[in-house]
Amino acid sequence: MLTGAPRGTKDITPKESYKWNYLESRFRKLCSLYGYEEIRTPIFEHTELFKRGVGDTTDIVQKEMYSFKDKGDREITLKPEGTAGVVRAFIEHKMHADAQPTKLFYMTPCFRYERPQSGRQRQFHQFGVEAIGGDSPSLDAEVIGLAMQYLSELGLKDLTVSINSVGCSVCRESYNEKLKSYLAERAEVLCDLCNDRRDKNPMRVIDCKNETCQANITDIPLMADNLCDDCKEHFETLKSYLNEMSIKYQIDKKIVRGLDYYKRTAFEIISNDLGSQSTVCGGGRYDGLVEQIGGPKGFSGIGFGMGVERLLLTLEANDIKIENPNATDIFIVTIGDRAKLKAFGILSDLRHNQISADKDHLDRSVKAQFKYSNKVNSKFTIVIGDDELEKDEAALKNMETGEQRLVKISNLVGELKKEL
Ligand code: ATP
Ligand code: MG
Repeated sequence: MLTGAPRGTKDITPKESYKWNYLESRFRKLCSLYGYEEIRTPIFEHTELFKRGVGDTTDIVQKEMYSFKDKGDREITLKPEGTAGVVRAFIEHKMHADAQPTKLFYMTPCFRYERPQSGRQRQFHQFGVEAIGGDSPSLDAEVIGLAMQYLSELGLKDLTVSINSVGCSVCRESYNEKLKSYLAERAEVLCDLCNDRRDKNPMRVIDCKNETCQANITDIPLMADNLCDDCKEHFETLKSYLNEMSIKYQIDKKIVRGLDYYKRTAFEIISNDLGSQSTVCGGGRYDGLVEQIGGPKGFSGIGFGMGVERLLLTLEANDIKIENPNATDIFIVTIGDRAKLKAFGILSDLRHNQISADKDHLDRSVKAQFKYSNKVNSKFTIVIGDDELEKDEAALKNMETGEQRLVKISNLVGELKKEL
């Protein structure tokens, strides 16, 4: 072989693609129940968008982006997440001029240069929603509700929603001062990255993966204990909406989330069976993002991104099977040249009647044809040769029960419609 797939990427073969189709179609249907419409944005954007939209101090921007110069010397980045592109499109297409909120969903590949492991790839996929143009906590609750309904309708039971509030520009400012002096006292025991982030975005230190850092900040002041009255009220109202929807949540004051632009609500949905990469879904409110990337003032948003690979692992860990719907309704086994020709007409007739049908294409023996019919998982088979064509009669065999009955070949569509 010339080369394998690049490290951190995976092919999705027919052994799995039906699962993806299933998850995608369930997601589409549910989004439409909640009034969210699909948006598709480019796989790559100007690097500047992510620097500004995701944030200079995030792991994504500092370490994980697939960035390159194109032949026209433009700085380009493969999208590491879905929100920035959607918000850029919201501005570019003047969706802010319409009645608000604007409710969008997406399904997209994402690219991050990370160390590949189970549930962590360099090309992975996200389903996400964004409700832009409203700051009411009912939208936060709706978005969390949508994610929870999706996961629980797939059959997942052991899920935890953790919520937090990361404040707003008003309360964050005084909190940041508190945090900076707390961190300055510990400068010697914190990693370089934490020290670097201390001045730019000190809250990010809470998310540091370094164990020594974590051990030295166990009593770090937390934003949720330092909220202004407006943020407190927003958080309390969100909780009451979640209660109203009977969604059980826990408060995790340490969720700061990966992205710089989060304000107020931040949340994660964790599957309790998945081990180390257990976060299936993460989201939050981004009240300044539209303005941050050049749009009008006063358009806030809330959304989530759900990792599809992790979702599939979670389903597996919970022994939830997705059925392969791609069984072939009927496989036609042919004997001789005349049957080979006629079978092609029959095949076409079946397919034009929405019955999935297949036949041999390689002039193989009857035995080999049956082997192929097993591979395509056919529900019925029929063997057609000169005799059968002469009598217009052949045995239709139910492959599951083994039962056979004689049917008119010229009425095969009608006979199968009775069975399927
Ligand atoms: P983590 O802490 O696991 O790195 P994150 O905070 O970087 O997660 P987000 O940016 O919030 O993750 O992305 C949303 C979701 O996308 C995650 O909850 C996860 O399910 C999925 N995800 C993120 N990075 C990867 C990856 N490299 N491979 C597969 N899925 C991923
Ligand atoms: Mg990450």
